[in-house]
Amino acid sequence: MSQTSRLSSPISRVKCVVNSCYFYEQGDQCMAERIEVKPPNSSTSEDTDCNTFQPKRA
Ligand code: SF4
Repeated sequence: MSQTSRLSSPISRVKCVVNSCYFYEQGDQCMAERIEVKPPNSSTSEDTDCNTFQPKRA
């Protein structure tokens, strides 16, 4: 996947609580320009994760 930018407005209809992510914003918002969720053929919600996650930058 190509480089993902951090935008100034959140993705609507996405609530994310991963506050250790570079794209996370206070209020459980995601500021990534897009997100990708994996993997295919998941059976339960436990199987799925956001593949766009990046650790917070210093
Ligand atoms: S990129 Fe994924 S993990 Fe990071 S804030 Fe957005 S939805 Fe959450």
